Amino acid sequence: MSLNAESTAFRSALEVIRAVEPRVADAIGAELADQRESLKLIASENYASPATLLTMGNWFSDKYAEGTVGRRFYAGCQNVDTVEALAAEHAKELFGASHAYVQPHSGIDANLVAFWAILADRVESPALKKAQVRQVNDLTEADWFALRRELGNQRMLGMSLDAGGHLTHGFRPNISGKMFDQRSYGTDPATGLIDYDRVAQAARDFKPLILVAGYSAYPRKVNFRIMREIADSVGATFMVDMAHFAGLVAGKVFTGDFDPVPHAHIVTTTTHKSLRGPRGGMVLCGPELADQVDRGCPMVLGGPLPHVMAAKAVALAEARRPDFADYAQRIVDNAQALAEGLLRRGTTLVTGGTDNHLVLLDVSGYGLTGRQAEQALLDSGIVTNRNAVPQDRNGAWYTSGIRIGTPALTSRGLGTAEMDVTAELIHTVLSQTTPGANADGTPSKAKYVLDPAVADKISKQATDLLAGFPLYPTITLG
Ligand SMILES: *Cc1c(COP(=O)(O)O)cnc(C)c1O
Repeated sequence: MSLNAESTAFRSALEVIRAVEPRVADAIGAELADQRESLKLIASENYASPATLLTMGNWFSDKYAEGTVGRRFYAGCQNVDTVEALAAEHAKELFGASHAYVQPHSGIDANLVAFWAILADRVESPALKKAQVRQVNDLTEADWFALRRELGNQRMLGMSLDAGGHLTHGFRPNISGKMFDQRSYGTDPATGLIDYDRVAQAARDFKPLILVAGYSAYPRKVNFRIMREIADSVGATFMVDMAHFAGLVAGKVFTGDFDPVPHAHIVTTTTHKSLRGPRGGMVLCGPELADQVDRGCPMVLGGPLPHVMAAKAVALAEARRPDFADYAQRIVDNAQALAEGLLRRGTTLVTGGTDNHLVLLDVSGYGLTGRQAEQALLDSGIVTNRNAVPQDRNGAWYTSGIRIGTPALTSRGLGTAEMDVTAELIHTVLSQTTPGANADGTPSKAKYVLDPAVADKISKQATDLLAGFPLYPTITLG
């Protein structure tokens, strides 16, 4: 039997790896097998194309390329220049942005680049000006103190964590929470939706330097036109972190007021979530912030990863093809079908539904914590993650929610009919699971009871469902 190019490529790669450390080759093979068998509903994960994956495994990884295209601190970067320029070009065309910086290694890094760029652009400090023109070594002790005081006093207004915001939007476990004096806006307790009047009020009261929009667990569209008006009314810089929904922007599901790029001063994203590229990040902005953004490395980033920038160029080229728009629309159709299937079975959903790729279940109606639900689903072959719901009574560790998303299953080809089956599987597991007790008889927020026969049966049904939609169908590892 003659093998297709993709199978040949991955088989040969594994053969080469196996000769050095067979356990790594085995783990790579096992990872494919596991991913093929699991019903992956993690809203932030996806499956990159074989072309994108293969682009990361080569000698571009050997190259240092600090600096920017055509202005490197290392010699011999002509081929890195080619791929970095291509990735930026595709990003600009795809998102209609005037500038794209494709070096960030992840979404968190992209946010750090953006924060620094905004501070460097906005904060009137002689010490900061010295630092930003690369005279960092000339800064005196007094300069550093002054700089720390000025930067530490800057304010950020972002979405609260329990409403779906992200740690990097000024929360303490992330450096942004130490860099900024942060206040957050939540959602309306009755509807679960962003109340723009309250965001405007918070902005007037707090006068932030940066207004951040974007989320990891908010199942609705955000009106970025209104958010920009709010930012403008208080002189704030408007930043959008589209890490989760970049694929829906790329695929033109979010347009007009819901497309962040024309409305924000600066947009950050990951490339590996709904955008379906390699693990990485990216910053888009207008000409005003471009120079500061390009200082990302070495200001806050380590050396660029040329092999990943090359893979970003490949993935972004894929996202510019017409079938990506179709993919993006199917992600949302699937999320809505999943939401409807759950609602019909009596599940409580935060905001009562979804406009995007994710659905947030409030599992307290099943008498469970998010942690119990997450583990019971995992036992049944369904991979999700627990997540806080607004005003969560179980806190950020146990939570009362389960977040599910459709980018990955949509990449496999599952459609709305399969989403209804998925809703049935989820509902069956949650309704058959009961909370467990601690050794002393008190109720546990972690332990749960689920008949293993039920878990096995659901696992088998999940596998059957996936059998019709093979993952990486062109690849057989033999
Ligand atoms: C996932 C996410 C990030 C972080 O991305 P990493 O690549 O994991 O660093 C940042 N912001 C938001 C809104 C996210 O959802």
